[in-house]
Amino acid sequence: MSARALAIVGLVALAAGPAVIRAQKPAYPITVIPTGKGPYNFPDGYQIPWDKIEINVTEKMSANLFVLHGSQGLDPAHPDASGGRALALFGPDGVLLVDTENRQVAEKTLKTIRSFTDGPIRILVNTHIHPDHTGANAFFAKQGALIYSQEDLRIEMLRPPGRPNGQPAPAPEPASVPVATYKYNAATSGEPAVSFNMNGEIVDFIPMMPSHTAGDTIVRFRNANVIYIEDFYRNFGYPFADQANGGSIKGMLEAVDLIERLADANTTLVPGHGTLVKKQDLLPYRAMLVDMLAKVTARRNSGQSLKEVLAANLTAPYDKTTQGDTQQSKDRFITEVYDEVKDFPPIVDGKRTMPRHP
Ligand SMILES: [Zn+2]
Repeated sequence: MSARALAIVGLVALAAGPAVIRAQKPAYPITVIPTGKGPYNFPDGYQIPWDKIEINVTEKMSANLFVLHGSQGLDPAHPDASGGRALALFGPDGVLLVDTENRQVAEKTLKTIRSFTDGPIRILVNTHIHPDHTGANAFFAKQGALIYSQEDLRIEMLRPPGRPNGQPAPAPEPASVPVATYKYNAATSGEPAVSFNMNGEIVDFIPMMPSHTAGDTIVRFRNANVIYIEDFYRNFGYPFADQANGGSIKGMLEAVDLIERLADANTTLVPGHGTLVKKQDLLPYRAMLVDMLAKVTARRNSGQSLKEVLAANLTAPYDKTTQGDTQQSKDRFITEVYDEVKDFPPIVDGKRTMPRHP
């Protein structure tokens, strides 16, 4: 074959393939501080000592894409590493930030970013609404960041759920609310809503189906071959679908299937919590979701109450291989499945009115 013909074949192959993803550089990812393994115990009445929590660079995904995460053993909501992972892409085009960590540690998060770049913080994308991911939004907006998210996340934020005592929740700080929004569309699932060409990277914000919440976004870094997959997958504690914010266990299955399509065998997947994984690591998690949906459906159809289903200890086969397994984490998971398989309330104004269980 002539050189010219070869060149044409090459071009056709490029045009026919999906978005070109280059191999991850051989030395990466570098784990700087591994996430904790536990077990962790907290006394009754324990209060989070925010002053003791540090925000560290815990992983380097490329020479200019760093992961930030909090100290282990101090935050009962996330004992393996306080807060949720945040990513910073930095260089001559400024900083693109994925999620913000908690409000209480905003200054420490900025200080850690300043340990490796003095560039302006220009773009912030929220992967979902939870405060360990959006808590410092207003702080970083005031640093100059333009905040991106799914439109559903913006709606969830503008309509905070009422307090248990019936009082309305306070309105969010205006600067914390995303200004640039996009929507999930099932017909174009997996396609980026926004792409940034910054600092030698191509960064894709990919809106997700309702899964961990109704407003999830995953973030792909094409050259580093990394996808931040936020919290629809977790390997510390049992799965959590925030159904009140539009999340769904069945949506989490679809989310896993989308990752199987978007990632190759070498893509590093960065969950919001727990350890870094590859796409084959998601399959046992998917199988567990399918198994629990089937078992809980059968018991609910035979008339069992939530109390009876919880007492059946259906997660027992998975307890040994589930790190961070607690009674609270498994009860929450099984309750979600129980509520979802029958009479699942619709989403109205960004919220789902879940049944209350005494
Ligand atoms: Zn999280």
